[in-house]
Amino acid sequence: MIDNLFATLEELYSEMVNLRRDLHMHPELSHQEEQTPEKIADYLRGLGIDVRTGVGGRGVVGTLKGGKPGKTIALRADFDALPIQDEKDVDYKSQVPGVMHACGHDIHTSALLGVAKVLSGIRDEIPGTIVFVHQFAEEATPGGAKPMIEDGCLDGVDMIYGAHVMVDEPFGTISVREGYASSAQDDFEIEVLGKGGHGSSPHTTVDPLVTASQLVVNLQQIVSRRVSPQQAAAVTVGSFHSGGANNVIADKAVIKGTVRTYDADVRDMIEGALKQIAKSTCEAAGAGVHIDYVRDCPSMYNDPEEAKRIAQMAKHVVGKENVHNMEPMLGSEDYAFYQEKIPGVYFIVGGENPDIGAVYPHHHPKFNADERAMLNIGKVFVSSVLNYLSDGEIEPSGE
Ligand code: MN
Repeated sequence: MIDNLFATLEELYSEMVNLRRDLHMHPELSHQEEQTPEKIADYLRGLGIDVRTGVGGRGVVGTLKGGKPGKTIALRADFDALPIQDEKDVDYKSQVPGVMHACGHDIHTSALLGVAKVLSGIRDEIPGTIVFVHQFAEEATPGGAKPMIEDGCLDGVDMIYGAHVMVDEPFGTISVREGYASSAQDDFEIEVLGKGGHGSSPHTTVDPLVTASQLVVNLQQIVSRRVSPQQAAAVTVGSFHSGGANNVIADKAVIKGTVRTYDADVRDMIEGALKQIAKSTCEAAGAGVHIDYVRDCPSMYNDPEEAKRIAQMAKHVVGKENVHNMEPMLGSEDYAFYQEKIPGVYFIVGGENPDIGAVYPHHHPKFNADERAMLNIGKVFVSSVLNYLSDGEIEPSGE
């Protein structure tokens, strides 16, 4: 069955390319997507799939109920573009000045539409339900994942898969990882409120620059002294601003930084420690303090058993030697919010191809990826979904 579906996907390839190039020519920025969700909804409706639009804002959710009872699995693709001028020399380059699909979300979307078409063609044989989660605003903070979840896109869903094409990995490879696949990201800004004055009379002031300097040093002890050596974390102060003249003691210093963690308890501990250290350091110096701590994305945890399934199916798609262990991602991806709610797997599909100039990094004005990555995403989705829903009974032939 799966071998036939792979063949059907290949027959659909030129249609997926047309879909992708149409999206590529008409990119829309995060939280401004109008035509894109409409195109997606129209396509899904044309397949006889139940569609809900405006989910969490601009999301589109399609639900394909199989002919047999069973579990429910979601597949997610993002569809927003970036504020970048397309500098590629191709006939399908962006027609919108200053806006471009420079991260491959057009590829994710078209691949998922191809998957929807293939699976809707065998709906009577599917033992369960498949939910197509087309997400807006992945590139923005706040992004679209959270409001879509709050609007019910995961209600009744048991499992979720997501994929990203990556040009730092060659086309023809697939990477997946068991356990943590990306870190949580929190950002902070601390204002140290002192009392300004003349540089010649420090005794009449509360120097915020000295106190903020101590604070930067004290914050280094969080990871080195409070986080277990078994765990990984980073606390980085990336910005320090105070004063403007050589002989003036400023009244305020502002430091900004970021925190990266995997484990949720470590994340909580660091937030508490950072606030406590900031308060006591400032208090000891007689300075005031204002702390702004913002939790951005949670870490992403790949269900180990499901990651094995994805890796197993990926071997049938690209060959055993081309399935790699994925490095944990350093950037944040708001897909992590889905896997904070329910188990799932996020995996990487290689898209680099020097022969077609697909060598520029993500978010680069000349970014492009090998479109055949859509087939690899689609094949892994189709085979893994059916394998999951059938508890391993439906599987590709061969090893
Ligand atoms: Mn992306």
